[in-house]
Amino acid sequence: MAGRKKSKCKAIYDALLTAYGPQKCFLDHETPFQLLCAVILSAQCTDKKVNTVTPELFRRYPDAAALADADAAELETILHPCGFYHAKGKYLREMAAILRDEYAGEVPDTMEKLTRLPGVGRKTANVVLGDSMGVPGLPVDTHVLRLSGRLGLSRSTDPVKVEQDLCKELEPEYWAQFSHLLIVHGRNRCTARRADCINCEISGLCAGITKEKSL
Ligand code: SF4
Repeated sequence: MAGRKKSKCKAIYDALLTAYGPQKCFLDHETPFQLLCAVILSAQCTDKKVNTVTPELFRRYPDAAALADADAAELETILHPCGFYHAKGKYLREMAAILRDEYAGEVPDTMEKLTRLPGVGRKTANVVLGDSMGVPGLPVDTHVLRLSGRLGLSRSTDPVKVEQDLCKELEPEYWAQFSHLLIVHGRNRCTARRADCINCEISGLCAGITKEKSL
């Protein structure tokens, strides 16, 4: 059973890779610190919008020490387009202060340490690990969650359980890229509002939802 699911997971990975090509992180960044900031800002906000805000954020606050000492009002003005700017500003300053005080300004490279930082959950930690630190991580966002269900890769609606189900069935080297591929497919073909099963590149591999396939 595990072997059969595993080969299906890898087959879906291969088919999506053929359809879309290798995907990069959707958030612009050059360092783990920048990516950590960007992912915190991406809560309830599009990656595109975050990418319009981060150039000024990183110019004004180039490292953890600068961000930790940021004036709250100034920081919030920069973050305003991302929404929830008060809470996000607070998370950024608190997170940066911990990096400065406990990690010599560097981003820690373990799930345990990352998820102790303010505003950082498993999804955020997995993005940072997988996309900027070369540590295998499979972020489960709303697209990954939805597609895992539709594709029959997990029966759970709990992101932590879905992450475990997918990681069990796929070699770690594929985790981060698989998350990206599911996200791009979830944005382009299998959206929350409509599963375009007729034109789907991986319909032959999909457990599918009969109702949606008939749309
Ligand atoms: S066949 Fe339909 S439900 Fe399955 S992945 Fe494609 S669009 Fe989504």
